[in-house]
Order: sequence, then C-alpha cells, then structure tokens
Amino acid sequence: MDDTIVSAFTAALQGSDTVATDKATLAENSKDYWGFGQQPGLVLRPRSRDDVVAAVKIAAEHGISLVTRAGASNCSAGVMAGADRAVIDLTQLNQVLDINPTSRTARVQPGVINFDLQQQLAPHKLVFSPDPVSAHLASVGGNIIENAGGPHALKYGVTYNHVLSVEAVLADGTVINLSAADDGPDLLGILIGSEGTLAILTEATVALRPIAPVTRSLMGSFSTARAAAETISAIIHTGTVPAAVEWLDRAGINGLQQFTDTGYPTDADAIVLIDVDGTAAEVDRDAAIVEKVLRQHATEVRRADDDDARAKLWYGRLHAPTPSCTAAKASSSATSPFHANTFRRCSRQSRTPPNVTRTPCCSSP
Ligand SMILES: Cc1cc2nc3c(=O)[nH]c(=O)nc-3n(C[C@H](O)[C@H](O)[C@H](O)COP(=O)(O)OP(=O)(O)OC[C@H]3O[C@@H](n4cnc5c(N)ncnc54)[C@H](O)[C@@H]3O)c2cc1C
Repeated sequence: MDDTIVSAFTAALQGSDTVATDKATLAENSKDYWGFGQQPGLVLRPRSRDDVVAAVKIAAEHGISLVTRAGASNCSAGVMAGADRAVIDLTQLNQVLDINPTSRTARVQPGVINFDLQQQLAPHKLVFSPDPVSAHLASVGGNIIENAGGPHALKYGVTYNHVLSVEAVLADGTVINLSAADDGPDLLGILIGSEGTLAILTEATVALRPIAPVTRSLMGSFSTARAAAETISAIIHTGTVPAAVEWLDRAGINGLQQFTDTGYPTDADAIVLIDVDGTAAEVDRDAAIVEKVLRQHATEVRRADDDDARAKLWYGRLHAPTPSCTAAKASSSATSPFHANTFRRCSRQSRTPPNVTRTPCCSSP
C-alpha cells in the first residue's frame, strides 16, 4: 500500500505495533478459518475505541476499504482482504470490562473470545447463552455481527436475544450507541447480523442467564438421517423443549473420527446430542420423556448424568479440529507464518476435559 497512506495510519493510531505491513502479519491476516481470502495491503491493530475512530477516518479520507476481522471463523466470507484493502484486526480489544452478577450483564470489548467470557462467568454461575460450536475461536463481536446461534439456540435463542446495547463506529468515524431499549426502529437489531457491512462494534453489553441447577445429556444413534430428524420433531411434539440439540451426519461423525476418538458410533447415519436442564425434578421429567422418544426410534441411546460423562459425550462435537490442522500436518515449512497461525488456533482447541483421551490437534501423523 502507498507509503503516504501507511504513514497517515501510523500517525493517527496510538502505540507501537498498531500498523503492520510486514510479510508475516499480512500473510497471517490473509485467510479466514476456511482458508479463503487474499493478502491485505495493511493490517491495523487498534488498542482502543479512539484507535478505531482514527483508523476509520483515515480510511475514509483515502478511500481505503476496511475489512474488520476478529476470530475469522465466520461462514459468510466476511473477512475478504485484498492488496488495496486494510484489515482492522480487533483481537487486541479483548477485555471483559465488567461482570454484574446482580443485573446479570457483562460489558465486553468486541474481541473477547466467547469461550474466555464463559470461563470468566463460570465462577458467578452465569453463562452467555450464544454458544456457537466455534466458541473457542469466535469473538463476542463476531457473534453479534453474525447473529451466531449454537446448540442452546432452541431453548435460549440466538445472539440477537442477548444483546442489550452496543457502541459502534460508523464509516465517517461517528461513534453511536444503540440500545435494545431505544424507541423507534430496531437499529440495534439491524446491526446484529449485518455481517460487517454497517459499522465497527467497539463495545457491547450482553445479557447473561444463570446456569441451570441440573443438566443431563442424552445421545441417540440412527440408521437414517430421516429417522433422526423425525425423532427431534417427535420430542418437540411432546411439549418438552431441550436446552440443547445438536446433530451430526455420517460424514460429520467420520470426519471428526479422523482427528479425535470421539466415541461416536461410526456405523450410524446420524447421531443427535440432547441436553435437558432445569431443577432436578424438571430434568427427571424431561429426560424421561426424551429418553422414551429416543428409544422408540434410535438404534442406540446413551445417557450422561454427571458433568464428567456429559463432557465426554459432547467432546467430539464441540472440539471440531480446524481444516487448517490438515494443512499444518501437510506443511513442510514449520516456520511459515501461516503455519504458526494455524498452530495457535489449534492450541486454543486443545482444552481437553478430564479423563478424555484424544489425538492432539496437529500432532505429527
Ligand atoms: C468450527 C466452526 C463452528 C462454527 N459453529 C457455529 C455455530 O454453531 N453457530 C454459528 O452461528 N456459527 C458458527 N460458526 C461460524 C462463526 O464461528 C460465527 O459466525 C462467529 O460468530 C464468528 O465470530 P468471529 O470472531 O470469528 O468473527 P469474524 O469471522 O472475524 O467476523 C465475522 C464478520 O463480522 C465482522 N466483524 C467481526 N468483528 C466485528 C466488529 N467488532 N464490528 C463489526 N464487524 C465485525 C467481520 O468483518 C465479518 O464480516 C462456526 C465456525 C466454525 C469455524
């Protein structure tokens, strides 16, 4: 990118290391999780809202497109850079600013990783409901901008249902605050799920919910995907709403098994993982209903009644290895920046629950 523009960004952003044009950083920011993308002309790493404002103003002045990037795990090709574009990497804005157990809210910077927020909430027995399977990679800002859901969406809703207010920077550098309580059109709702097209989110206040006193998990294996789908319908038909429902088809089961011994039946056409939560009495009632329906249709039913058993049952599904792990295994250059980036992402996924044996992601073949 033109030296004048690089100098303008460098002069406007605070601190060292906020503007990068070195090959390694450009390469590291060129691809998304899925391996798509091109090398940007410049990478900006703001440390504050004011840095974001400054970057946006310089970009507007010079007609440079900004590509906002956090976990880069989106499925909508939202972080497509190019030589004439600047990536604005929000991973340095990664602070949980406040957790208020009384009002059950958290104020966060956009680059906070969903999993890290959940870790900080756990001692308060609170949870941020949006739980995309990518929680260990995806930022809360990315969850908001993609309106992410997850296994718990059926009972607890998607990200839209848990955002109370945001601060965001518009394309001309104006800072706006939007709240779910605002009168008039639902502007906050328009921003949620806007896939990076409207504004750069610099802060959010999200709603939390208490962790249910009891959770139990069940798994059904099915000889056909149709039988699995009909079973889920039959469960919903009983009036019981599971806390979480997740599905894996044959290709998914076998794909995961190549990386991790999931323990899932590799001869099944589909498996369904189901959580029920609530008080002990509610869980006894709901688990009995779900188990009865599963046993009518499934070739095998498994139950996990305690946390350890539950962690093992869900582990394979929630720790999907990155496609890049295969690339990393195949790569002969251990020092290339993309390889280093790949290993960093994989190491985030290597949080193994107790008593689970698995093949480490990116281990040598
Ligand atoms: C293995 C895997 C499993 C997944 N499972 C799920 C799932 O269960 N449910 C689901 O909904 N999704 C899932 N996803 C998709 C993805 O993880 C989510 O969309 C996630 O919310 C993206 O967050 P991110 O931090 O990676 O955002 P990024 O990919 O970095 O960005 C997403 C979009 O938002 C923009 N953006 C990012 N941060 C900001 C910001 N602060 N302000 C403005 N724009 C911004 C980017 O420009 C881009 O357009 C999965 C992805 C993977 C790889």
